[in-house]
Amino acid sequence: MRITSVEIIETRIPLKKPYKLSKRYGYLENTKPIIVKVNTDNGYVGYGETDPLGRFTGETPETVAAVLKEDLAPAILKEDPTNLHIIHETLDSAVRDNHMAKAALDMACYDLLGKASGMPLYRVLGGALYEELPIMGAIGGGSIEESVAAARGEKEKGYHSLMVKVGGDPVQDGERVLAVRDSLGKDYPLIVDANQGYDIPSAFKFIDIVREANPVLFEQPIDAENIEGIAAIRKKCGFPISVDESLLSYRHAQEVIRLEAADVFSIKVCKNGGIKATLQIIELARSKGIEILFNSMIEEGITQSASLHIALTTSNLYPFGHAYFSPLRLAADITDYSTNIVDGKVRAPRSPGLGITLREDVLEAFKTGTKIIKAN
Ligand SMILES: [Mg+2]
Repeated sequence: MRITSVEIIETRIPLKKPYKLSKRYGYLENTKPIIVKVNTDNGYVGYGETDPLGRFTGETPETVAAVLKEDLAPAILKEDPTNLHIIHETLDSAVRDNHMAKAALDMACYDLLGKASGMPLYRVLGGALYEELPIMGAIGGGSIEESVAAARGEKEKGYHSLMVKVGGDPVQDGERVLAVRDSLGKDYPLIVDANQGYDIPSAFKFIDIVREANPVLFEQPIDAENIEGIAAIRKKCGFPISVDESLLSYRHAQEVIRLEAADVFSIKVCKNGGIKATLQIIELARSKGIEILFNSMIEEGITQSASLHIALTTSNLYPFGHAYFSPLRLAADITDYSTNIVDGKVRAPRSPGLGITLREDVLEAFKTGTKIIKAN
């Protein structure tokens, strides 16, 4: 099987409701996933997606689209998409870094590997350890009343844990988390995510207030680059710490481990450079006793499905819910992924590859640009 063309599709998809994140990011109103279709000489089509957010991931939708069009897609034309070793060598020699751009093609090639072998991707990766996974809900910032109502809404959907976005004023955030805790009951797993919003003193101020709310995890308290600072917070804070923005590549994973800065890795398959790179980071984490929280950017169903297949094969899985409802936040799901979400859990897709169908008419409605790169 050989790659004959790569279609790069730029999109702009509104969120159903603006999402308030830490003061670093402000309100998110739209997401701009980049979708790829990798076409082959035997008629298979592989789907890939990547979901950059410049302030978070460094790469932006515009840089990703440019690098895919100019460097990465032309490099893999005529290659065998099922040989992921050669695909990645080719991508890495075409351009350094740009993990999120590479992730889209990586995903599409794994989709083709599964389709060509007639197996869902989790089987290609060695087999599923689970039939389904519990979902973690999430709420953004807002007033205490808004947060309590939103938190109850997430619990009523049947989700098994809740991530509360903080990272603004530490006292107001702390009071909001205490109110959410009261409304959900003392045993419901509560995760707080500051998205780099605090400095070290404000992180400790927040920790002192929320201690009685007993969060099961505190994610990315401070600046992504200050891994020593995160390690210092972890030593004193008394609850587990996860890294998200600090964990882009394998090199970052090694650094976080060396400085003993995290108990949990917040994995996002496109942020981490695609399926192959994500599997390597997970294996490193496993060898060091670090658990994996499957998290998501604001993603559509292709990325979510890639993440799900990996999670189904992961033994060092974080014991609470995982972020698998992202397309439900958006104006539309461009795939049929969301049909796998039932009663607060997500089920393993059964059909070959990523196991999803693209809804072409929906994609068409949100498309902002298309470019096809073809072999001569
Ligand atoms: Mg996070």
